[in-house]
Amino acid sequence: MKVAIIGAGLSGLCCAHELERNGITPEIFEERSRTGELFPHVSAMMELFIRPYRDPVQYLDKEFGIKLKPLYKMKKVEMRMPGIQRTVNGDLGYFFSRGQYKDSVEDQLTKLVKSKINYNVHANFDELCKKYDHVIVCTGNNKVARTLSLWDNLFHSYLRGAVVLGKFETDKLIMWFNKKYNDTGYAYLTPFNEEMASLVLIVRNIGPEELDDYWHLFWENGNFDYKIIENFTLEHSSGLVYPHKLDNIILAGNAGGFLEPFLGFGQINAIRSGVYAAQSITQGKDYEKLLQPLNTDVSRSTVLREYLNISSNRSINMVTWAATLPGMKQLIYNSRLDVMKYGTGMLKMLDKLTGERISRQ
Ligand SMILES: Cc1cc2nc3c(=O)[nH]c(=O)nc-3n(C[C@H](O)[C@H](O)[C@H](O)COP(=O)(O)OP(=O)(O)OC[C@H]3O[C@@H](n4cnc5c(N)ncnc54)[C@H](O)[C@@H]3O)c2cc1C
Repeated sequence: MKVAIIGAGLSGLCCAHELERNGITPEIFEERSRTGELFPHVSAMMELFIRPYRDPVQYLDKEFGIKLKPLYKMKKVEMRMPGIQRTVNGDLGYFFSRGQYKDSVEDQLTKLVKSKINYNVHANFDELCKKYDHVIVCTGNNKVARTLSLWDNLFHSYLRGAVVLGKFETDKLIMWFNKKYNDTGYAYLTPFNEEMASLVLIVRNIGPEELDDYWHLFWENGNFDYKIIENFTLEHSSGLVYPHKLDNIILAGNAGGFLEPFLGFGQINAIRSGVYAAQSITQGKDYEKLLQPLNTDVSRSTVLREYLNISSNRSINMVTWAATLPGMKQLIYNSRLDVMKYGTGMLKMLDKLTGERISRQ
């Protein structure tokens, strides 16, 4: 059986790994000269998003045989809003290095895969689907889904990221929510080490030319004394894709609409959808059925996103305050409760108190 994978990112490499475990050697095409984003950053893998499981690293190993070594454990999340600051503690997830460096997620996955990766090849799905039995599109963007008219936009934003020098705690994620400088997006800081961190601002519904103003406002409000040593700007979109398989073309990862629209997290979904794409081939399973839990997660995340879109700073403060009350904090951050499932219900209740409305359920 001839299988082509376009893109050697998270979904493409995990798809290849799963195919190999079942005796199929795919051909992988990657347009870069090596795997990994061109800019370094530190991503967060939060256990909140894999409930009822508790540990993302153990989950990926146990479910898919994918062993990943994180940079650090995440033990604290600090949320900074205009009138309120809250910290939660516990086993909250992990930080991972991303980019073209040794031990980045992409570097670790590349080492797990034995199939040849054809670098410096910009692959065209149209041509490949005539030559291969299956073509898995793992390009990290929506171009193929849009070309095939399968894409429905959910969230469009611009993202400014920077590598900054300063003093940082290696177990702490800091998040900022403030309508003033990120509209309905947010900002976050993740640690490379005690002296270096990744600082990212995501702003919704703006053009690239407006990003500078928001970035300056964010720095002014944060009163940071960090030193920037590198920065980058990116377009970030999430959307709904249906169907995820058309003839012999299968879409996975961000290309399949699995970048969740609430916080723009997509690592676990990319890994899972890449593996499921492989399983749909090796085990003859219905890809759409395998994707059901991911689709449910994305639609719950859409409810949270819509809540953020319509909420005022006051309302976001109130939700954060309620979610960090002693008993509630324990339940949300240190239990097996499926927060994505019950959190959307809780939001609707709080919604009534604040007088704001979520449009879609
Ligand atoms: C700055 C930033 C911070 C993030 N932080 C987090 C986070 O903290 N937590 C989280 O869960 N998620 C985070 N994400 C999202 C997460 O990184 C993505 O959802 C995930 O990488 C998607 O995996 P993928 O396989 O779909 O695409 P990618 O990992 O982007 O891989 C796509 C690959 O396809 C290649 N490619 C594209 N087109 C072609 C072509 N035509 N031919 C050949 N090769 C091609 C690209 O070069 C690339 O290597 C972040 C994303 C960014 C940009």
